[in-house]
Amino acid sequence: MTRFIYSDSGDTAQSRLKTRNAMGEDVYEVLLSQIISLKIAPQERISVDSLARELGVSQTPIRAALIRLEAEGLVVKKHNVGYSAAPTLSARDFEEIYEMRMLLEPAAAEIATRNMNDTVAQRLQQAHDRMCELESEQTKRSYSKFARFDAEFHAIIAEASGNSLIVDTLGRLLTHTHLFRSRRHSAVTREAVSEHSTLLNAMLRGDAAGAKWAMAEHINHSRERIVPFTEAGL
Ligand SMILES: [Zn+2]
Repeated sequence: MTRFIYSDSGDTAQSRLKTRNAMGEDVYEVLLSQIISLKIAPQERISVDSLARELGVSQTPIRAALIRLEAEGLVVKKHNVGYSAAPTLSARDFEEIYEMRMLLEPAAAEIATRNMNDTVAQRLQQAHDRMCELESEQTKRSYSKFARFDAEFHAIIAEASGNSLIVDTLGRLLTHTHLFRSRRHSAVTREAVSEHSTLLNAMLRGDAAGAKWAMAEHINHSRERIVPFTEAGL
C-alpha cells in the first residue's frame, strides 16, 4: 500500500502529499497536525478546494477528514459558509477540563499502577521515549507530534485503569489537542517530559500512591503552564 510522504521543511513550506492515492487517514493526520500547530489558525476558514490542490489529492479524503475532525470538535461546519477551524477554548473551558482531569486522572494512575502488566509498561515507555526524542527537536511539527504522544500516554493510563467511563470521559475532553493549540513554548514539553518521567517511574515500580501523586502534580503544573496563555486571550 502506498504511504504518503509528508514533507514540511518549515512553517511557510507547502505541505504536500506526494501521491494521488490518497488515504483518508493520512489526509486526516496532515489536517490535524496543521490545526494543532496553528498553521490553520482558530476560526480560519478551511477550503476543501484549496486543500485538495495544496495536498494534491481529491476532495473525497479531505471531506472525510473534515467530518472526523468535526466530530472531534476541532472543526466546525456552518451552513452556507463551510468548514473552519474551531475557536480555541476560553479560560473557563480550560478550568472545567482541569477540574475533571484532577478528579479522574490521579485515580486512573493509581488503579493502572495496581493493574500494571508488561504490555502496558512497554506502551507507556514507548510513548515516553518518543516524547523525549521529540523534545529535542523543537519545531512546530515535532510539537504537534508531541501532543499526540502525550495524549496517547494519558490514554494508555486511562485504559489501564480498566474503567471504560474514565476512558470515555477523558477522551471527550480532547485535552491535549486543545492545550497544544494554545501553547507554543519549548519549556512546556521539557517540563512535561520530566513530570511524565516521575509518573512513569512510580508506575513501573508499583508505587500506586506515588503514581497518584505524580499525576496530580503533572496536572497541576500543566494547569499553571496554561494560565498565562488563557489570560492573554490566546
Ligand atoms: Zn502529560
